[in-house]
Amino acid sequence: MKAHEFQAKNLLKEYSIPVPSQQVVESAAAAVAAAKAIDQPVVVKAQVLSGGRGKAGGVKIAQNASEVKTVASQILVLTINGFPVRKLLVSPASTIVHEYYVAITLERTTKRPVLILCAEGGVDIEELAHTRPEAIVKIDIDPLKGLESDLLMGRISTIFKGERIANQAKQIITRLYHLFLERDCSLVEINPLAEVESERLVALDAKVVFDDNGLYKHPELETLRNSEEYSPYELEARSYGLSFISLEGNIGCVVNGAGLAMATMDLIKHFGGAPANFLDVGGSSNPQKVLHALRIISAHANVRAILINIFGGITRCDDIAQGILMARKELALSLPMVIRLIGTNEQEGRKLLTDAGYEVAEQLNAAVQKVVAL
Ligand code: GDP
Ligand code: MN
Repeated sequence: MKAHEFQAKNLLKEYSIPVPSQQVVESAAAAVAAAKAIDQPVVVKAQVLSGGRGKAGGVKIAQNASEVKTVASQILVLTINGFPVRKLLVSPASTIVHEYYVAITLERTTKRPVLILCAEGGVDIEELAHTRPEAIVKIDIDPLKGLESDLLMGRISTIFKGERIANQAKQIITRLYHLFLERDCSLVEINPLAEVESERLVALDAKVVFDDNGLYKHPELETLRNSEEYSPYELEARSYGLSFISLEGNIGCVVNGAGLAMATMDLIKHFGGAPANFLDVGGSSNPQKVLHALRIISAHANVRAILINIFGGITRCDDIAQGILMARKELALSLPMVIRLIGTNEQEGRKLLTDAGYEVAEQLNAAVQKVVAL
């Protein structure tokens, strides 16, 4: 789950990491009012769940109220990387002396958190990662020892210029690590961590991504959920208790069990196709779920064909078949469909479907090849 910049900065503040004061508004008039209260040049920033806002014109400095009105109106009509701007953050503009990059994420290969630092932070960090990867320092964190080692602190010092800045950096990074651990984040990022006047470090931008699997431990984070993170299909699926994730391909998938769903997507890729979604109808045996699943998938403009892959255990194949027949009646399904059913009540399910004129496959490879061809 992703947080907006203003939400991420509130969390940083909770961990005593310096951030500018901020106000979130939804109109140019409200931005002007916020700027008047600040009574100095302000930065107006689009709040969207995407990076690269600066380059897209979503971050602007305004010297006075009339400039705030202009830039706020300009930013509010933008769509940045697919996200329409609906909220703005207004903060006092900082005078930047230097921009650093700081992030902590999980490194899957080492199975440890990794601290990522760069003395050249700002909007071009992704480009730098390609052109001069050596400028980006990665430091593995031993989860049992944390950040407390001298060696590690010494390495942090080499990135930040001057003792005062380096000391603040060490403190900020330590606090950021606590945030990362305590809230089960998969990413915390400050870019830029800016040196401003009087040799102070301030987080001018922040990104926090929570590990969805840790959210059950943090009911207080539920208020940070932003519906725009999810496609309308995902939201609808969630409301029916279906586990659904939109993907880029054109083969809609209805599968029972997350493992089988993953294997099915792998096979689709293997045979040259691309899945339009991950969908786990779950272990329960409820024809309604199949109906909802097919409704969501067939509403998806990209979908050209549907693969239903059921390995009946707790899920009974005849219930799935009932769901398919209900969907045919209620949805006027026109997309080609490949159905593979095996397991509990396979014969009953197969009979229901073949009586209704459907072909039912038994072999998964053949079914996947067929749907890719369709
Ligand atoms: P991003 O492009 O989505 O990463 O948005 P950022 O919040 O990082 O803003 C992009 C860039 O705008 C930063 O790298 C800074 O150079 C600049 N910026 C952001 N806030 C301020 C500010 O208060 N003062 C100044 N001078 N520049 C800022
Ligand atoms: Mn940034």
